[in-house]
Amino acid sequence: MTNAPASASLATWDGVPMDLVIYNTLTRVKEAFTPIDPVNVRMYVCGPTVYDYAHIGNARPVVVFDLLFRLLRHFYGADYVTYARNITDVDDKINARAEVEKRTIREVTETTASQYHSDMAALSALLPTMEPRATEHINDMKAMIENLVAKGFAYVAEGHVLFEVGKMPGYGKLSGRSLEDMVAGARVEVAPYKRDAMDFVLWKPSKPGEPSWPSPCGIVEDGRPGWHIECSAMAGKHLGEVFDIHGGGIDLTFPHHENEIAQSCCAHGTQKMANYWLHNGFLQVEGEKVSKSLGNFITVHELLESDKVGGRTWPGAAVRLTLMSAHYRQPLDFTQKGLEESEKLIERWAKLIDGVETSSDAEPPVEVVEALCEDLNTPRAIAALHGFARAARSGDIGAVQKLADAAAFLGLMPESWQDVEAQTAEAATADPELAVRVEGLIADRLAARAAKNWTESDRIRDELAAEGIVLKDGKNPETGEMETTWELKR
Ligand code: AMP
Ligand code: ZN
Repeated sequence: MTNAPASASLATWDGVPMDLVIYNTLTRVKEAFTPIDPVNVRMYVCGPTVYDYAHIGNARPVVVFDLLFRLLRHFYGADYVTYARNITDVDDKINARAEVEKRTIREVTETTASQYHSDMAALSALLPTMEPRATEHINDMKAMIENLVAKGFAYVAEGHVLFEVGKMPGYGKLSGRSLEDMVAGARVEVAPYKRDAMDFVLWKPSKPGEPSWPSPCGIVEDGRPGWHIECSAMAGKHLGEVFDIHGGGIDLTFPHHENEIAQSCCAHGTQKMANYWLHNGFLQVEGEKVSKSLGNFITVHELLESDKVGGRTWPGAAVRLTLMSAHYRQPLDFTQKGLEESEKLIERWAKLIDGVETSSDAEPPVEVVEALCEDLNTPRAIAALHGFARAARSGDIGAVQKLADAAAFLGLMPESWQDVEAQTAEAATADPELAVRVEGLIADRLAARAAKNWTESDRIRDELAAEGIVLKDGKNPETGEMETTWELKR
């Protein structure tokens, strides 16, 4: 991994200039990537709403943007790239789940967020640089809402604050829709307090029992933020008014990303929120849309830990390779057959590179870098690995090393290496000084939780997460008491 900042905005590989070309939804063409500041490259990706296990479709953007994160770190240096992926921990689905399970909202969001972390770690996705949470940014959202009202872009009506879409020139540019198309297709809520059907909620009243905060704009009743304002406020706070890359699944283009742009540009007085907008295509399962009613709703957790697919569990590397098998903008059909093929490939590669030293920081082969520079062309990167494997079988030692370095860079660690990683993690777990420090912080966190000091308990969890330490909250099966265990994930 390159650790020095790139001196020019052009990405380089081993001193050779190389353009990273990415398709920009905003301009509808492939563009050479040039960061605003090569020593501070910034990417924001819309993250999970933490109410249940992530399904396999949700894992697609995680793997796609993890690859982009790895490539940016390679070019600009790990210390010079900031990747923010939010956690939406205020939402109707969360409230509904807490209600059904008679658990607190906080319990639902904490458990789900930690399940998400362990599932995504099993897919070798690096932790983003930061994971801002909606509930920790309510004041930032309120300030942004008040700013929008003061500038005349938003209005207060019956305890709500609404963004007035007609005031935003260029609304619809990202998704390429006219206002009429949007009204026809969006199934927008036509509420009597809206000046126009397209106006969207920035703040709304909370129903009894729902989370609520003191409202902005002089509204007397407590309330809660809308979903779109969350991303605008957190991206603005952590990445600045205009940053480099914004990503998410294609379904988020409209209305979510269109609304993020409207809020951010109007609040900051800027022409853009981000220079490059990237969207992954949708994943289907066995040729059908992922849906609970079709019975093909598979969670990552079920693939890794249950016999739901093919009566057995699947290695994370095989799941990741299957997710990489189609170009990220194309639809992807996730099938058991695809998983089986991926697993075979991983095993074959593992045999060839058995005993070869490498790590995810190893210099990736130019063929792989070139493939990813072509709008993250993962099928071409995988073809390069096939080529190395063929050469390795005919006795080319250099190709063996290339195969190992490429697999490590792409996060396709075969099981044998994951064992090595697990051993390293175990060794670190056995490190008495680390163990004492972590146990101490866990005790502080439990105390903070007992005192309902969620800010402090989250701060401790985030401090540990930054070191790759994932906390798992659960009940001790013998005593029935709540306890927290920990694991070093990288
Ligand atoms: P959600 O929790 O529904 O907001 O989704 C989290 C992320 O997963 C978003 O970026 C979605 O666009 C993405 N996503 C959801 N379903 C799929 C799918 N079937 N295929 C690809 N991406 C998806
Ligand atoms: Zn978002």
